[in-house]
Amino acid sequence: IHDRMAALLSAAEMRRMAAPVVHMRAASIADTLVVGAGFAGAVMAERLASAGQKVMVVDRRPHLGGNAYDEHDDAGLLVHRYGPHIFHTNSDDVLRYLSRFTAWRPYEHRVLSLTERGLVPMPINRTTLNRMFSLRLADEETTQAFLASLAEEVGEVISARDFVVASVGSRLYEALFRGYTVKQWGVDPSELDRSVTARVPTRTSADDRYFLDRHQCMPAAGYTRMFENMLDHPNIVFMPSTDHADVPRARFRHTVFTGPVDAYFNHRFGALPYRSLIFEHETRDVEFAQPVATINYPALDTPYTRCTEFKHLTGQSHRRTSLCRERSSAEGEPYYPVPNLANQALYKRYEALADQEPDMTFLGRLGTYRYLNMDQVVGQALAAARRLTEGSLARVRA
Ligand code: FAD
Ligand code: UDP
Repeated sequence: IHDRMAALLSAAEMRRMAAPVVHMRAASIADTLVVGAGFAGAVMAERLASAGQKVMVVDRRPHLGGNAYDEHDDAGLLVHRYGPHIFHTNSDDVLRYLSRFTAWRPYEHRVLSLTERGLVPMPINRTTLNRMFSLRLADEETTQAFLASLAEEVGEVISARDFVVASVGSRLYEALFRGYTVKQWGVDPSELDRSVTARVPTRTSADDRYFLDRHQCMPAAGYTRMFENMLDHPNIVFMPSTDHADVPRARFRHTVFTGPVDAYFNHRFGALPYRSLIFEHETRDVEFAQPVATINYPALDTPYTRCTEFKHLTGQSHRRTSLCRERSSAEGEPYYPVPNLANQALYKRYEALADQEPDMTFLGRLGTYRYLNMDQVVGQALAAARRLTEGSLARVRA
């Protein structure tokens, strides 16, 4: 293995490989370099490898899985190192594809928000309205009429604030959205695109599930195991703890880049803003600490936005329980692109540069600066892989 890797890497690069290499079964030269072993990179690597290409995957982190990486903590509880990841999709294709690499555990996510009225369901549903306004709304029609009485005229719905106030009015906006959004994004909701709060639309039913997608489930043995299965291919070499900057690009015919697009271009037009997070993990000596997986904290005087108890997601039986609180920050690893018009305009300039790069494909949440869920990233990568493999087949035929 070492000899075959040496054909690819200089001595200096080999020294950098002190970190454990998880999978190393590549032939002497790779056709494609994939930067990032999250959903975007892993799907691309698996698809290209299955189409016969030799693929090298690098990630600067010491593990695969990107932000979806999970692991057993000191207490033996399965936790998500980079915050809770709940899988949900309406795409049969995405579910079918991932099902090659994992079995699933059915799981429907539920979230409560801590308000002055106590814990209420999020997104806002009939129960939320009844608790917040001491009502007894019993059907869709009366709930719809009540919501209409709360809704306020805002003109064109542009911002994250507009979206909420236009559908449920100022009181619920203040109680449930404003503080959470200020903490999460570091700006007032009026400075964010409406798509941000449109992720949690109000319902008139009493359905208290966080997502309404047709498929809602968790990888039965965890995300990390699923990623290991995806990259377990004779045509794939995975090198953790390896930055793209340290890999000689000339050795590859094509590069798939799933890191931040502005970093790739050395921030030529200025840095794209990202939100970072601080994850505070904790294990408690009780079997369960929360009634549902996630509790949101919209109050500004609570420093974190939400707290998630992993056992609800994983179904693990254990006498103890592990939780993760999330605090947002402007500094640190980029986790969220910040959706607003100015940032989108700046991204468009980088996208134009990316389009001109021969033999490069930019993908994923950071590579395309989009607030994408896991299933959307998988869909994006599957489509890109189809384009690339069709292109290479066309070249072979020519
Ligand atoms: P990432 O997972 O970020 O992978 C990119 C990888 O590239 C990283 O591992 C990084 O180390 C590597 N990299 C970057 N630059 C370089 C470089 N120069 N050299 C080498 N490697 C590099 N989605 C859902 O569907 N459901 C959820 O419940 C959900 N919850 C989330 C909770 C949090 C706190 C966060 C932050 C995101 C959540 N998401 C959720 C979104 C989900 O994480 C993303 O959609 C998905 O992980 C994106 O995959 P990706 O491959 O694009 O990026
Ligand atoms: N949001 C809020 N209060 C809540 C839940 C969500 O204000 O209780 C807003 C907030 O701006 C958040 C956005 O809606 O960033 C999207 O919420 P989601 O739960 O989808 O965020 P993610 O899981 O992607 O962090």
